[in-house]
Amino acid sequence: MFDVKPLLVTIDGPAGAGKTTVSRLLAESLGYTYVDTGALYRAVALAALSENCQIDDDARLGEICRQLGLRFENSPKGPRLFMNEVDITDQIRTPEITMFASAVSARPVVREYLLVVQREMGKNGGVVFEGRDMGTVVFPDAEIKFFLDADPGIRALRRYKELQVGPGQTKISLDRVTQTMKKRDEDDSSRALAPLRPAHDAIRIDSSLLGIEQIIDLMLRYIPVLAK
Ligand code: C5P
Repeated sequence: MFDVKPLLVTIDGPAGAGKTTVSRLLAESLGYTYVDTGALYRAVALAALSENCQIDDDARLGEICRQLGLRFENSPKGPRLFMNEVDITDQIRTPEITMFASAVSARPVVREYLLVVQREMGKNGGVVFEGRDMGTVVFPDAEIKFFLDADPGIRALRRYKELQVGPGQTKISLDRVTQTMKKRDEDDSSRALAPLRPAHDAIRIDSSLLGIEQIIDLMLRYIPVLAK
Protein backbone atom coordinates (compact mmCIF):
# COMPACT_ATOMS: atom_id res chain seq x y z
CA MET A 1 0.00 0.00 0.00
CA PHE A 2 1.12 3.55 -0.69
CA ASP A 3 1.24 5.92 2.24
CA VAL A 4 -0.46 9.01 0.80
CA LYS A 5 0.06 12.20 2.74
CA PRO A 6 -2.79 14.70 2.37
CA LEU A 7 -1.53 17.78 0.57
CA LEU A 8 -1.65 21.47 1.32
CA VAL A 9 -3.26 23.43 -1.50
CA THR A 10 -3.13 27.23 -1.52
CA ILE A 11 -5.28 29.56 -3.61
CA ASP A 12 -4.28 33.23 -3.58
CA GLY A 13 -5.50 36.15 -5.62
CA PRO A 14 -7.36 39.46 -5.56
CA ALA A 15 -11.00 39.99 -4.54
CA GLY A 16 -13.63 38.83 -7.01
CA ALA A 17 -11.38 36.35 -8.85
CA GLY A 18 -13.63 33.47 -7.76
CA LYS A 19 -11.35 32.14 -5.00
CA THR A 20 -14.07 31.42 -2.43
CA THR A 21 -16.36 29.28 -4.59
CA VAL A 22 -13.45 27.54 -6.28
CA SER A 23 -11.62 26.81 -3.00
CA ARG A 24 -14.75 25.44 -1.35
CA LEU A 25 -15.63 23.17 -4.29
CA LEU A 26 -12.04 22.03 -4.81
CA ALA A 27 -11.79 21.10 -1.10
CA GLU A 28 -15.09 19.24 -1.39
CA SER A 29 -13.99 17.24 -4.41
CA LEU A 30 -10.69 16.30 -2.72
CA GLY A 31 -12.35 15.51 0.62
CA TYR A 32 -10.18 18.24 2.19
CA THR A 33 -10.99 20.99 4.70
CA TYR A 34 -11.51 24.49 3.30
CA VAL A 35 -10.11 27.48 5.19
CA ASP A 36 -11.09 31.04 4.21
CA THR A 37 -8.26 33.08 5.75
CA GLY A 38 -9.86 36.40 4.72
CA ALA A 39 -12.59 35.59 7.25
CA LEU A 40 -9.93 35.51 9.99
CA TYR A 41 -8.79 39.04 9.09
CA ARG A 42 -12.42 40.10 8.97
CA ALA A 43 -12.94 38.67 12.49
CA VAL A 44 -10.02 40.77 13.79
CA ALA A 45 -11.58 43.81 12.07
CA LEU A 46 -14.97 43.12 13.68
CA ALA A 47 -13.46 42.77 17.15
CA ALA A 48 -11.29 45.89 16.71
CA LEU A 49 -14.20 47.98 15.42
CA SER A 50 -16.52 46.87 18.20
CA GLU A 51 -13.88 47.92 20.75
CA ASN A 52 -13.19 51.24 18.99
CA CYS A 53 -9.58 50.25 18.58
CA GLN A 54 -7.47 52.66 16.49
CA ILE A 55 -5.81 51.07 13.49
CA ASP A 56 -2.31 52.05 14.68
CA ASP A 57 -2.77 50.93 18.30
CA ASP A 58 -0.66 47.78 17.94
CA ALA A 59 -0.60 46.96 21.65
CA ARG A 60 -4.40 46.91 21.80
CA LEU A 61 -4.67 45.04 18.47
CA GLY A 62 -2.34 42.39 19.86
CA GLU A 63 -4.49 42.01 22.98
CA ILE A 64 -7.65 41.78 20.86
CA CYS A 65 -6.07 39.04 18.73
CA ARG A 66 -5.09 36.99 21.75
CA GLN A 67 -8.68 37.04 23.01
CA LEU A 68 -10.34 36.08 19.72
CA GLY A 69 -10.90 32.32 20.14
CA LEU A 70 -11.54 31.62 16.43
CA ARG A 71 -12.77 28.32 15.02
CA PHE A 72 -14.53 27.15 11.87
CA GLU A 73 -17.41 24.70 11.95
CA ASN A 74 -18.94 22.94 8.96
CA SER A 75 -22.63 23.42 8.22
CA PRO A 76 -24.88 22.51 5.28
CA LYS A 77 -24.67 26.21 4.22
CA GLY A 78 -20.86 26.06 4.16
CA PRO A 79 -18.27 26.73 6.86
CA ARG A 80 -19.28 29.04 9.73
CA LEU A 81 -16.78 31.11 11.68
CA PHE A 82 -17.14 31.38 15.45
CA MET A 83 -15.47 34.04 17.59
CA ASN A 84 -15.56 33.08 21.25
CA GLU A 85 -18.45 30.75 20.41
CA VAL A 86 -20.52 33.47 18.65
CA ASP A 87 -21.30 32.78 14.97
CA ILE A 88 -19.96 35.86 13.13
CA THR A 89 -20.09 34.43 9.57
CA ASP A 90 -22.68 36.91 8.28
CA GLN A 91 -21.65 39.97 10.31
CA ILE A 92 -18.17 40.06 8.77
CA ARG A 93 -19.43 40.56 5.19
CA THR A 94 -20.34 44.27 5.37
CA PRO A 95 -18.41 46.83 3.23
CA GLU A 96 -17.22 48.54 6.43
CA ILE A 97 -15.64 45.32 7.74
CA THR A 98 -14.22 44.61 4.28
CA MET A 99 -12.23 47.86 4.26
CA PHE A 100 -11.22 47.62 7.91
CA ALA A 101 -10.05 44.01 7.38
CA SER A 102 -7.71 45.27 4.66
CA ALA A 103 -6.39 47.96 7.07
CA VAL A 104 -5.82 45.58 10.01
CA SER A 105 -4.19 43.06 7.69
CA ALA A 106 -1.31 45.52 7.09
CA ARG A 107 -0.45 45.54 10.84
CA PRO A 108 2.45 43.18 11.65
CA VAL A 109 0.98 42.26 15.05
CA VAL A 110 -2.18 40.93 13.36
CA ARG A 111 -0.31 39.02 10.65
CA GLU A 112 2.06 37.45 13.19
CA TYR A 113 -0.86 36.27 15.28
CA LEU A 114 -2.82 34.83 12.34
CA LEU A 115 0.31 33.21 10.89
CA VAL A 116 0.44 30.92 13.92
CA VAL A 117 -3.32 30.25 13.82
CA GLN A 118 -3.20 29.36 10.10
CA ARG A 119 -0.12 27.11 10.37
CA GLU A 120 -1.77 25.22 13.21
CA MET A 121 -4.85 24.68 11.00
CA GLY A 122 -2.65 23.30 8.20
CA LYS A 123 -0.19 21.21 10.18
CA ASN A 124 -1.65 17.83 9.12
CA GLY A 125 -2.26 18.74 5.46
CA GLY A 126 -5.52 17.93 3.69
CA VAL A 127 -6.53 21.60 3.55
CA VAL A 128 -7.31 24.10 0.80
CA PHE A 129 -6.29 27.54 2.07
CA GLU A 130 -7.73 30.61 0.37
CA GLY A 131 -6.09 34.00 0.91
CA ARG A 132 -3.53 36.53 -0.28
CA ASP A 133 -0.20 35.22 1.09
CA MET A 134 -0.87 31.52 1.52
CA GLY A 135 1.67 30.38 -1.08
CA THR A 136 4.22 33.13 -0.44
CA VAL A 137 4.38 33.49 3.36
CA VAL A 138 2.16 31.17 5.36
CA PHE A 139 2.81 27.92 3.47
CA PRO A 140 5.83 28.49 1.21
CA ASP A 141 6.31 24.70 1.07
CA ALA A 142 2.71 23.87 0.08
CA GLU A 143 2.64 21.12 -2.53
CA ILE A 144 0.17 22.86 -4.85
CA LYS A 145 -0.16 26.63 -5.21
CA PHE A 146 -2.65 28.44 -7.39
CA PHE A 147 -2.94 32.16 -8.13
CA LEU A 148 -6.39 33.00 -9.41
CA ASP A 149 -6.87 36.34 -11.14
CA ALA A 150 -9.36 37.97 -13.53
CA ASP A 151 -9.92 41.20 -15.40
CA PRO A 152 -10.64 44.01 -12.85
CA GLY A 153 -13.95 44.96 -14.54
CA ILE A 154 -15.16 41.36 -14.36
CA ARG A 155 -14.07 41.03 -10.73
CA ALA A 156 -15.94 44.21 -9.77
CA LEU A 157 -19.10 43.01 -11.52
CA ARG A 158 -18.93 39.64 -9.73
CA ARG A 159 -18.48 41.33 -6.35
CA TYR A 160 -21.35 43.74 -7.14
CA LYS A 161 -23.67 40.81 -7.90
CA GLU A 162 -22.64 39.03 -4.69
CA LEU A 163 -23.44 42.14 -2.69
CA GLN A 164 -26.99 42.21 -4.05
CA VAL A 165 -27.79 38.81 -2.58
CA GLY A 166 -25.16 37.97 0.04
CA PRO A 167 -25.29 38.38 3.83
CA GLY A 168 -23.63 41.83 3.67
CA GLN A 169 -26.32 42.92 1.21
CA THR A 170 -26.35 46.70 0.48
CA LYS A 171 -27.55 49.22 -2.09
CA ILE A 172 -24.00 50.01 -3.19
CA SER A 173 -23.52 51.01 -6.86
CA LEU A 174 -21.26 49.22 -9.35
CA ASP A 175 -19.07 52.35 -9.55
CA ARG A 176 -18.58 52.36 -5.81
CA VAL A 177 -17.78 48.61 -5.78
CA THR A 178 -15.23 49.18 -8.58
CA GLN A 179 -13.57 52.06 -6.68
CA THR A 180 -13.39 50.28 -3.31
CA MET A 181 -12.11 47.09 -4.94
CA LYS A 182 -9.39 49.07 -6.76
CA LYS A 183 -8.35 50.74 -3.50
CA ARG A 184 -8.30 47.41 -1.64
CA ASP A 185 -6.27 45.72 -4.43
CA GLU A 186 -3.76 48.58 -4.30
CA ASP A 187 -3.53 48.48 -0.51
CA ASP A 188 -3.22 44.68 -0.42
CA SER A 189 -0.58 44.65 -3.19
CA SER A 190 1.53 47.56 -1.98
CA ARG A 191 1.76 46.84 1.75
CA ALA A 192 5.25 46.10 3.07
CA LEU A 193 4.28 42.88 4.79
CA ALA A 194 3.01 39.85 2.87
CA PRO A 195 1.77 41.82 -0.18
CA LEU A 196 -0.64 40.16 -2.57
CA ARG A 197 1.48 38.57 -5.30
CA PRO A 198 1.84 35.13 -6.89
CA ALA A 199 4.42 32.76 -5.37
CA HIS A 200 7.23 32.05 -7.86
CA ASP A 201 6.02 28.45 -8.10
CA ALA A 202 2.28 29.20 -8.26
CA ILE A 203 0.13 27.97 -11.13
CA ARG A 204 -1.55 31.11 -12.47
CA ILE A 205 -5.11 30.89 -13.72
CA ASP A 206 -7.06 33.73 -15.32
CA SER A 207 -10.71 33.14 -14.45
CA SER A 208 -12.11 36.00 -16.60
CA LEU A 209 -13.60 33.73 -19.24
CA LEU A 210 -13.83 30.46 -17.31
CA GLY A 211 -16.79 28.99 -15.46
CA ILE A 212 -16.36 27.50 -11.98
CA GLU A 213 -16.47 23.91 -13.27
CA GLN A 214 -13.78 24.64 -15.85
CA ILE A 215 -11.51 26.15 -13.19
CA ILE A 216 -11.98 23.15 -10.88
CA ASP A 217 -11.29 20.71 -13.75
CA LEU A 218 -8.14 22.62 -14.61
CA MET A 219 -6.95 22.65 -11.00
CA LEU A 220 -7.66 18.95 -10.52
CA ARG A 221 -5.35 18.20 -13.43
CA TYR A 222 -2.44 19.64 -11.45
CA ILE A 223 -3.16 17.58 -8.35
CA PRO A 224 -1.35 14.23 -8.21
CA VAL A 225 -3.71 11.30 -8.71
CA LEU A 226 -2.71 9.67 -5.43
CA ALA A 227 -3.79 12.71 -3.42
CA LYS A 228 -7.35 12.69 -4.80
O1 C5P B 1 -10.61 37.47 1.10
P1 C5P B 1 -11.32 38.62 1.79
O2 C5P B 1 -11.83 39.64 0.86
O3 C5P B 1 -12.36 38.16 2.76
O4 C5P B 1 -10.16 39.30 2.67
C1 C5P B 1 -10.38 40.47 3.41
C2 C5P B 1 -9.05 41.20 3.55
O5 C5P B 1 -8.18 40.43 4.40
C3 C5P B 1 -8.26 41.38 2.26
O6 C5P B 1 -8.56 42.58 1.60
C4 C5P B 1 -6.83 41.38 2.71
O7 C5P B 1 -6.42 42.68 3.06
C5 C5P B 1 -6.85 40.57 3.98
N1 C5P B 1 -6.25 39.26 3.80
C6 C5P B 1 -4.88 39.15 3.90
N2 C5P B 1 -4.28 37.94 3.84
C7 C5P B 1 -5.01 36.84 3.64
C8 C5P B 1 -6.42 36.91 3.50
C9 C5P B 1 -7.01 38.15 3.56
O8 C5P B 1 -4.21 40.16 4.06
N3 C5P B 1 -4.40 35.67 3.61
